[in-house]
Amino acid sequence: MNPDKMFADSGIEMVVDRVEDIDAAQKQLKTAGGKAIPYDKLILSPGSKPFVPPIPGGDLDGVVTLRSLSDAENIRTYLDTHNPVKLVFVGAGFISLEVAALLKQVPDKQYGIEIIELMDCPLPLMLDPELGKIIHEHLDGNGFNMRMGQKVSKIIGQDDRVSAVELDSGERVDADMVFMNVGTRPNLELAKHMGLEMGQYGIKVNEFLETSNPDVLAAGDCIENYHFITQKPVPIQLRGPAVIQGRLLAKRLAGYDIPFPGLLGSSAVKLFNKYIAATGFNETQARNEGFDPVCATVQSGSKHAMIPGMQPWTLKLVFDRDSHRLIGGQIISDSEAPVKEIDAVNALIVGRQTISDLVTLMCAGNPDCSSEPSKEPITIAAEQALQQVRPASSVRGV
Ligand SMILES: Cc1cc2nc3c(=O)[nH]c(=O)nc-3n(C[C@H](O)[C@H](O)[C@H](O)COP(=O)(O)OP(=O)(O)OC[C@H]3O[C@@H](n4cnc5c(N)ncnc54)[C@H](O)[C@@H]3O)c2cc1C
Repeated sequence: MNPDKMFADSGIEMVVDRVEDIDAAQKQLKTAGGKAIPYDKLILSPGSKPFVPPIPGGDLDGVVTLRSLSDAENIRTYLDTHNPVKLVFVGAGFISLEVAALLKQVPDKQYGIEIIELMDCPLPLMLDPELGKIIHEHLDGNGFNMRMGQKVSKIIGQDDRVSAVELDSGERVDADMVFMNVGTRPNLELAKHMGLEMGQYGIKVNEFLETSNPDVLAAGDCIENYHFITQKPVPIQLRGPAVIQGRLLAKRLAGYDIPFPGLLGSSAVKLFNKYIAATGFNETQARNEGFDPVCATVQSGSKHAMIPGMQPWTLKLVFDRDSHRLIGGQIISDSEAPVKEIDAVNALIVGRQTISDLVTLMCAGNPDCSSEPSKEPITIAAEQALQQVRPASSVRGV
């Protein structure tokens, strides 16, 4: 399907150009190509850009970030032209690890992969340390050199091209190419120039994604998002919320009053043969947010035990001790099937389900495509959590 044709057939004019200026008083924007476009309502969604920490050497040839298609093309060109062998990834979030795992699997290439991460475990925004450790070992086993709890302080070059990174410890790690993946920042230049109100993490919007200017709405990576559970601002930027917000904006303009509920940061990643997914708060984050978490970790199987091809998977659920409500989940699996169970966890959080609600959850079961009902991990996790919160007086004979 040609998306341009789809828009054209719907009477939507596409202009491929860079917006350089927006005059909010005149309700008109100007493009780099010199076009002036008037508007009644404006939807801003310029996304975000990779954050490069201000360390010496960050601008050397061979230090790359990945955001756009042209970034990907530049990376490809650098790989093809300079044949780097020692690849250093700064940051162990899902973008670093996904790209590193894919490069490690390129046929006829033998890249040396170093991962340097400030926190003690990979995927620190998704996983608690004990689950992060499983991924650490998995990546070790696939030939990565994992340097956790280390900070890059300098990038060193030779003839303007990267040759090593220096760590806070003073240690030097040889590098033919450095991938910087340490976060993103919203593109706020146009919004600031228009005088829109800013939040802590982006353009401030209300529950209907309206900005401080009644004729301007905004969505995606550029806005300040709210967490569904705490309703506090969060710096989470993901595709799922951006898509839903885009649809909601259209509905808003069509006259619907559907508020955006806030987000849970649901995300998933595949690293070699492991699938990882998370939603809501992990135990560490829950504690940092002031919750007293009750957690349960359950080992299960992607199929019934007697079916060939059954793969193991692990689910950790996090509950709030005070309200008994489910507030987060993490999955590590050797099969892709259980990953989408994180969406069930997401829906249960949104439905404000508690431990006692979940002990009666009845999932669809089939030997070839689900855990055995007796090993269905959400219900078992709820059973385990129940043991941790039951009052002593409820125990028979006490
Ligand atoms: C490598 C990578 C992998 C990712 N993987 C996942 C994933 O697996 N799951 C997930 O949920 N999220 C993922 N994300 C995040 C996800 O891509 C973003 O959250 C999502 O694209 C945000 O949508 P958006 O519309 O706000 O911004 P974008 O998709 O970035 O779109 C913004 C667009 O605005 C354009 N633009 C900016 N300024 C101007 C201007 N002045 N004039 C005209 N156009 C302009 C940009 O060129 C861009 O095309 C990934 C991101 C990266 C970089």
